[in-house]
Amino acid sequence: MVLNNIVVVGSCMIDLVSYAPRLPFPGETIHGSKFVTTYGGKGANQCVAASKLGGKTALVARVGDDIWGKKYIENLKKENVSTLFVKEMPQVSTGIAQIIVSDSGENQIVIVAGANDELTRQDVENAKTTIKEAAVVVLQLETSVDIAIKTMELCKGISILNGAPALGNYNPKLLKLPTIFCVNESEASIFAGIPVNSKRDAERAAFELLSKGCNSVLITLGAQGALYVSKREKKCYHFNSPSVKCIDSTGAGDAFIGALAYLLANKKDLLKSIEMSCIIAADSVTRQGTQISFPDSDILKTLEH
Ligand code: ADP
Repeated sequence: MVLNNIVVVGSCMIDLVSYAPRLPFPGETIHGSKFVTTYGGKGANQCVAASKLGGKTALVARVGDDIWGKKYIENLKKENVSTLFVKEMPQVSTGIAQIIVSDSGENQIVIVAGANDELTRQDVENAKTTIKEAAVVVLQLETSVDIAIKTMELCKGISILNGAPALGNYNPKLLKLPTIFCVNESEASIFAGIPVNSKRDAERAAFELLSKGCNSVLITLGAQGALYVSKREKKCYHFNSPSVKCIDSTGAGDAFIGALAYLLANKKDLLKSIEMSCIIAADSVTRQGTQISFPDSDILKTLEH
């Protein structure tokens, strides 16, 4: 049996992106200039990010029994992600985000979660042995909170919960169970219940989240890097991100979490792993797209020097 040392439980979404001179008014039909289809969903993104670096990964997810679901599974296989626990569901669509982007950069998005809403405790139960054997288990909140909690209760290794999208009201277990609670600034603000507009605010939010029961908190700060605090040390560590030419920051947080999972599963020291994850995520923003912008294992060679 192949051991999957990183297991991600989460979402798969197909992004259907149309580019047009402007957004249409209600009832109006306009001509666009370009159409692209991309693979998304935080769960799948983070899993692919870890896999591209060389991680042995498995995804627990649901897609629809439609053309998009089949394409998604093909894409995961191409990226060396185990799809043993990716279930194709009859009579439900794959998760779809229909996006229109105007020349001025405005967008209109309709998300149909589809099969992602059908992910149940049974899916986690089916993957129970793999979850228990995993060195690192990764979760987000695009699928149900209940599933994230059940998975973290089963996990015997390191669990990383990416609190995205953020919730104003939540089961306190969501903060108490993960080894690392990881969010960006706006999510930190919602979970902590305080405004976050600066590094100082982010530090305050991190300590607030510790007082709400987190074991450790990792807040990503876009171009400004990340910060980390833990219950054990009560000291804030700051990490810089390299200065890069940002082309497209979509999925930067997913590249960061996938890298962190890969490095921790390969027994790298935590602080070193955060420092390296900042560099890997920064590299991803220098290219267009989400999964296709994530770096492969070549970047690790440059980081070892
Ligand atoms: P999210 O995509 O979840 O909003 P962030 O924007 O905080 O997450 O980005 C995650 C990580 O990606 C950051 O910690 C940083 O390492 C890297 N990053 C994001 N944007 C940039 C940027 N413009 N320049 C350099 N690094 C970046």
